[in-house]
Amino acid sequence: MREILGSHVSFSKEKQMLGSVLEALSYKSNTFMFYTGAPQNTTRMPINPELTLLAHNLMNKENINIENVVVHAPYIINLANDKNKDFNISFLKEELARVESLGVSKLVLHPGSHVGLGIDQGIQNIIDALNEVMLDDGKVIICLETMAGKGSEVGSCLEEIKRIIDGVSKKDKIGVCIDTCHLNDAGYEMAEFDKFLQEFDSIIGISNIKVVHVNDSKNDLGAHKDRHENIGYGFLGFDTLLKIVHHPKLKDVPKILETPYVGTGKDQYPPYLFEIEMLQSDKFNENLQTEIISYYKDGKNK
Ligand code: FE
Ligand code: FE
Ligand code: ZN
Repeated sequence: MREILGSHVSFSKEKQMLGSVLEALSYKSNTFMFYTGAPQNTTRMPINPELTLLAHNLMNKENINIENVVVHAPYIINLANDKNKDFNISFLKEELARVESLGVSKLVLHPGSHVGLGIDQGIQNIIDALNEVMLDDGKVIICLETMAGKGSEVGSCLEEIKRIIDGVSKKDKIGVCIDTCHLNDAGYEMAEFDKFLQEFDSIIGISNIKVVHVNDSKNDLGAHKDRHENIGYGFLGFDTLLKIVHHPKLKDVPKILETPYVGTGKDQYPPYLFEIEMLQSDKFNENLQTEIISYYKDGKNK
């Protein structure tokens, strides 16, 4: 069966979401995720309605359902610490408006790091900020991403995510993005995914999973590192990731790859066309790197 599967793609100044759709199609994706500008800063260009319309027309033609498309908020927004609070809140409000004007309904957000304030204060800060930015008439759902637990990150266990959701007043505007690399690094055994889903269901409720980030991990269970690896080449392995991608309980949830480019120096290429093919066809490619490099560098046919 063909799953709802895509990858992180770029969003350029010139082509905006139209470029993102074209890139996604080049990977044979039926969904995609992008930042509306550089992830590490909050400089954003105005959304061009003509390019948005062209992007929507192309998606219609190619059977990409806009409801499955995801925007990722810049990861330097930190709602858990109150430093730069006003800026973070006004930026997130603007980002929500931008996502809305693109017609996208899912915005993935890192809960943030409390940086010495303690977990309780961190969670309270996140709740207060979310309640301030969420609008009654918006359709965008903010999807809190499960984190690896680096430093003072909030949201590396399901109980913390649940506490945030409990504090948010507009329950129809909040959801969760589970990231398989982060969950592994946080100590959740992805090889026992059914057990994990049961736990998720009893703590948060499975219907709250709105996005899955499908990544292998460079590190072992509980490492708290957050370094993504190509599909089947890390500690999770191909079979575990395949099972997650095909899980019947997540069949309507978009799945997004955020795996690293392959190659070195200026010869670095996206792995997504090849990784998506592996996952859609249930067949591991043991020559992934070599085939990607020869496809993009030497223009070899696939
Ligand atoms: Fe993320
Ligand atoms: Fe992620
Ligand atoms: Zn990550």
